[in-house]
Amino acid sequence: MTEQNEKSAPQRAETIDAIVRYDEIGLKGKNRPLFERRLVQNLRRVLGLRDHGVQSTRGRIKITAPVGADLSPVSRTFGVKSWSPATSVRAEPDLEAISAIALTAARRAVEEGVRTFKIDARRADKEFPKTSYEIAHIVGGVVDRALPELTVDVKRPELTIGVEVGTRGRAVVYCERMPGPGGLPVGSTGRALVLLSGGIDSPVAAWFAMKRGLEIECVYFHAAPYTGEKTKEKVIELARILTAWHGGRPIRVYIPAFGKVQDAIAEACPEPFWTLALRRVMYAVSDRLARAKQHGALITGECLGQVASQTLENLYAIDRKVDSLVLRPLVGQDKHEVIAIAERIGTFETSTLPYDDCCTLFAPARPKTKVRAADLDDACADLDIAALAELSLATGERVRIAGDGKRDVGPIWSKTEPDVGAEETEARAEPS
Ligand code: ATP
Ligand code: MG
Repeated sequence: MTEQNEKSAPQRAETIDAIVRYDEIGLKGKNRPLFERRLVQNLRRVLGLRDHGVQSTRGRIKITAPVGADLSPVSRTFGVKSWSPATSVRAEPDLEAISAIALTAARRAVEEGVRTFKIDARRADKEFPKTSYEIAHIVGGVVDRALPELTVDVKRPELTIGVEVGTRGRAVVYCERMPGPGGLPVGSTGRALVLLSGGIDSPVAAWFAMKRGLEIECVYFHAAPYTGEKTKEKVIELARILTAWHGGRPIRVYIPAFGKVQDAIAEACPEPFWTLALRRVMYAVSDRLARAKQHGALITGECLGQVASQTLENLYAIDRKVDSLVLRPLVGQDKHEVIAIAERIGTFETSTLPYDDCCTLFAPARPKTKVRAADLDDACADLDIAALAELSLATGERVRIAGDGKRDVGPIWSKTEPDVGAEETEARAEPS
C-alpha cells in the first residue's frame, strides 16, 4: 500500500489491530523479559496467531489479526491490564494520517450523540519530532475545527481518542479501553497442582492460582464405584472451562482411583476420622504427583471456618505429613465472594449440578471438627498411606482437556506422553 493510499484509506482492510497494556508491578529486573515473553506467547495461543501477529513494542503489546478475528480472549488473559481495538497507521511528523483516523472516529461518536472529547497522546519513540503534548494539540485541533458539535474537555470527556506513536515508524489510534483481568501471565511464576473437586470452591482457587501466574494441572480423586461417571465428567468439564483462563493451554487432570482407598479407610480407621484420613491420603497422592510432575505447590479450595471440617486444627493435621507447599487462595474469602467469582469465570453453573462427590458420600455421622494431629496419626496407624497412594495412581487415568473439548486420555504414569515441562522449556526458549 502506498503512502497516499494509506492516508486516504485509513482503515486497512485486511487486518485489525489492538494494543495491550500490562502492569509494571513485579516487573523489575530479571523477571521482566520472562513476563513479557510469556504474555506474548499466551496471547498468540489464545488468539491462534503466529509470531508476527503478537509483538511487544516497548511497554505495550501490539496485535495484528485477520479481519473478523475474535479478540475477546484478550480480556481473559492474565497479565493484561487493559486493551484497545486500534487502527494502525504510519507515524508521520505532519500527523495527517493520524488526524484523519481520529476525525473518522470522532465523527462516528458525534453521530451517536457524543459532545465532549480529548486526545490522549503517548510517544514511545523519543526520536519522533513531536512531543506527546504537541501530538494531542495538533490532532485535537483538527477534530475540533472539523466538528463544531464537539468541544474539548480534558477532565471528563465522553470520548477519549488515544494516539500512541510507537517505534518502527508506526502509530495507533483507538477509542475504547477494555479491562483485562490483571494478574501475571500464566506460566510466569511456575507450576502448581490443583486439588479439583466438583464443588464451587476449588475451581475458584484454581483461577486465583492462574491469576498469579501459575500454570496448573489438576488432580481429582474419583471414588468409583461410590461416585459415578457423571461426577467425573463434571470435574473434567470444570477443567475445560478453566482453560479459558489458562493462556491458551490445555489442562491435564489426573484421576487416581479412590474407591479402594475409601474401603481401606473404612476398615482401618475409626469412623469419626474418615474424612480427615481421606484427606491425608489425598494430600499424600498430591504430594507424590507434584514431585513427579514438577509442581512447586498444591492448591486447594479449602477456606477457614467455611464448613465444620475446615478448622485451623484440621488443616494443620491434614497436611503436616506432606512436604509440598500448600496454598489455599480462598482462606480469606466469604462464600458469597467465592460464588460471585465462580459466576464471573463461568464455573458456577457446572459446580452446582447435583452430583455427589466422594467426601459427601463418605462423611462420617459425627465428624471430628477439631482434631489433634497426634490423634489423627493414631487413627491412621493401620493405614499404609504410601501403598494406597501408589495403587490409586497406578490404576487411575489422566485426561488432557482443551478449551474446545478435545481430550486425550491415558495412564497417569506414561512413557509415551511428552515429559511434563518439555512444553514449558520449549516455550521459554522461544524468542519474543
Ligand atoms: P469444593 O467446593 O471445592 O468442593 P468444599 O467446600 O466442598 O470445596 P471440601 O469438600 O471440604 O470443601 O474440600 C476441600 C478441598 O479439598 C476442595 O476445595 C478441594 O481442593 C479438595 N478436595 C475435596 N474433595 C476432592 C476430590 N474428590 N478430588 C480432589 N480434590 C478434592
Ligand atoms: Mg467439595
